[in-house]
Amino acid sequence: ENEGLRILLLENISLDAVAAFRAQGYHVDHSSKAMSEDELLEKIGSYHAIGIRSKTKITERVVKAAPKLLVIGCFCIGTNQVDLQAAARAGIPVFNSPFSNSRSVAELVMSELIALSRQLFERAYELRTGIWNKQSKGCWEIRGKTLGIVGYGHIGSQLSVLAEAFGMRVLFYDVVNIMPLGQARQVESLAKLLGESDFVTLHVPELPETINMISKAQLAQMKKGSYLINNARGRVVDIPALVDAIKSKHIAGAALDVFPSEPGANGTPFDDQLNSWASTLRELPNVILTPHIGGSTEEAQKMIGDEVAQALSRYLGYGSTVGAVNFPEVDLRAITAEHINHIRVCHIHKNQPGVLKQVNEALSPYNVEKQYSDSKGEVAYLMADIADVSFKELPQLKQRISSIDANIIT
Ligand code: NAD
Repeated sequence: ENEGLRILLLENISLDAVAAFRAQGYHVDHSSKAMSEDELLEKIGSYHAIGIRSKTKITERVVKAAPKLLVIGCFCIGTNQVDLQAAARAGIPVFNSPFSNSRSVAELVMSELIALSRQLFERAYELRTGIWNKQSKGCWEIRGKTLGIVGYGHIGSQLSVLAEAFGMRVLFYDVVNIMPLGQARQVESLAKLLGESDFVTLHVPELPETINMISKAQLAQMKKGSYLINNARGRVVDIPALVDAIKSKHIAGAALDVFPSEPGANGTPFDDQLNSWASTLRELPNVILTPHIGGSTEEAQKMIGDEVAQALSRYLGYGSTVGAVNFPEVDLRAITAEHINHIRVCHIHKNQPGVLKQVNEALSPYNVEKQYSDSKGEVAYLMADIADVSFKELPQLKQRISSIDANIIT
């Protein structure tokens, strides 16, 4: 039924998603790699949908070079890699998977808490190089220690529960008042959290106010001998300031999974060309460096694959934008076998006065059973279910609606 619709899936999106699209009749091209802007400019023109993860950037130039593109699926949590406004203006909703990998990140943090406090990576590295160095000095249990969680959203709150199960005392700081889980306690300022925590872990999104949120002054506020963990976004930590704090032994160690600039493909060097301080960071034995693997588990990939693939299918098949990050969220009841001779009109238009009147005039000869519309910023979206329409009437109906001057996509 979806023959002729072409989907491009990049960055190793789960094969289950590829199979699910193919089973619905879509033509799917997929690759394990990200695409550069130039490659996208060359290829995107023939596709109706694209699925990416965090490395492929969908810029305004790419959107403009994609006249057939109907929908973008980010098979990950973040959507910074897409120019969301440019996509919305072109009538393209963007879907993501907001919490499929929260548990995976929280579990990685638990392992990092123990690995840091037991100097696990240092001992393992020494033994690999033939050095037996059994010692307990500076090695701690995490039981009874204080974990400070910055950002108590999907990941932070999940982590809170796991950390308490290990006997940790949990504090969190968030810009929103959130009901604490278990015995956790919200504190009123970042400074208070930093001053009381043995481990500080970051779980905030990248926003103008979270860039370099942990810099020289905040590191100085942290307890001497405490640890910093960043699995959120690279720019949240001022890394040269962290290097200084670790070298001065004020901070006992750190785990970093994310960086301001990250390689686009496996095998690409993580060096000073990418981030000017990379080689200095690599030499610090008490810093655990991982290549943005917080959410990289089989379970999370499967859940992300299923969730985003379903969102794309629901949009391409039924026009549903529920869960879209840049678009008005519109849906009507499910279409079933009873709805013979029904059609669904999906009309994306500029959010300007008078359009609904024109749409209703265009639909006036028909039996509109249900209609729903909503707007977000410059874009509005109307969905209407029309009964008793024959196939031969469709071109005329489409023509009536498409001629509305605020039309973006019908
Ligand atoms: P979320 O949106 O559920 O939670 C974020 C929390 O941060 C919210 O409660 C929000 O109120 C709070 N917040 C926002 N600005 C703040 C500020 N200035 N100070 C304090 N709190 C603030 O997000 P999430 O799903 O928990 O994800 C958190 C971060 O983890 C995101 O940046 C995401 O990109 C990143 N992440 C990384 C990986 C990885 O592989 N390392 C995987 C998944 C998510």
